[in-house]
Amino acid sequence: MAKRRAAVIGAGLAGAAAARALSDRGVEVVLFDKGLGPGGRMSTRRAETPLGLIHFDHGAQFLTATGEGFTRLLKDAEAQGAAGLWTARTVSIDRGGNAESLREKTRWVGVPGMSAIVKTALSGFDARFGVRARRVRGDAGAWTIHFEDGHVEGPFDRVVLTLPPEQLIEFLARSDGDFSDLIAEALNAKLSPCWAVMTVPGNPADLGFDGAKLLGGAVRWMARMNSRPGQDGPDAWVLHASPDWSEAFLESDPETVARALTEEAFIRFGLPMPEWCEAHRWRYALVTEAPGTPFALDPTGTLGCAGDWRLGPRAELAWDSGDALGDALAD
Ligand SMILES: Cc1cc2nc3c(=O)[nH]c(=O)nc-3n(C[C@H](O)[C@H](O)[C@H](O)COP(=O)(O)OP(=O)(O)OC[C@H]3O[C@@H](n4cnc5c(N)ncnc54)[C@H](O)[C@@H]3O)c2cc1C
Repeated sequence: MAKRRAAVIGAGLAGAAAARALSDRGVEVVLFDKGLGPGGRMSTRRAETPLGLIHFDHGAQFLTATGEGFTRLLKDAEAQGAAGLWTARTVSIDRGGNAESLREKTRWVGVPGMSAIVKTALSGFDARFGVRARRVRGDAGAWTIHFEDGHVEGPFDRVVLTLPPEQLIEFLARSDGDFSDLIAEALNAKLSPCWAVMTVPGNPADLGFDGAKLLGGAVRWMARMNSRPGQDGPDAWVLHASPDWSEAFLESDPETVARALTEEAFIRFGLPMPEWCEAHRWRYALVTEAPGTPFALDPTGTLGCAGDWRLGPRAELAWDSGDALGDALAD
């Protein structure tokens, strides 16, 4: 009997989990992603700065694992040198500048950056990048994927969609099939935006912490990249704006955002003004409302959607969602 084939749209954590679950059950998998490499919101920016090459984790900051499957993934990645523990000085700082240590927990990061974990999970898979899927056509067992550049892939027996909800809705609305239930659920999911600024201060400064959760002001979180395993380069920081600030300045230009956030970090904490900096907008960053079930299938049971947006704002939940969908589609 010919091997069944599956297309996975999205090579972030949920796509990787689905691909592995399908492949473990004998299904041949091809992944497609519009980005230039694996990771999605766990991607890493490799930046050539005047002070050298720096790996910035501008999306997910650290991972916590509670379940067996995700813990195994992180331990396997660690064994391959692609993950490690971030044993950092982490604090929360209130509006008045009072700092308190954050609760001790095991914080995992990718080495040399977050994307290494997804890359390791996908090693050996046929993953194609720089291709934006536009719609799916056909029917159960014979789906074709149509891409923005006009090319078509397929047929596929199974399809996994891990696009964020807003993009998923547009994708399904353009597609053949009865996707009304999938669309209705996606309409009820919400993700808040996040502006991220990557900065290399003009001179290094020890602020007394490596990661800080901040109350009040525009900056909600800041982390020192060179405190992470495998990153011993120059002083480099990622600043994340709060969801409210990010929403209010969503359409601002990146230079204005970079200036505003680095100035605040300078005024509040004395982080020296940048020698180099860049802003990145995550239009869909953290889940604020989720359907609460790991995946949903179309009426034929051969196409489904997964992602953190089904369960909540943590990378492990994206993994659990993709893993559960992969298992369901492999039956
Ligand atoms: C700023 C920020 C901070 C975060 N901090 C943390 C943290 O500290 N800890 C934590 O656990 N989690 C954190 N998260 C959340 C975590 O990153 C996500 O939960 C997880 O990465 C989501 O994985 P996913 O596979 O569901 O989605 P994604 O990673 O978004 O993957 C979806 C993929 O689909 C691709 N795609 C979309 N549309 C198309 C298309 N039309 N065609 C082809 N490909 C397409 C995208 O390029 C992307 O690669 C953070 C996220 C952000 C943005």
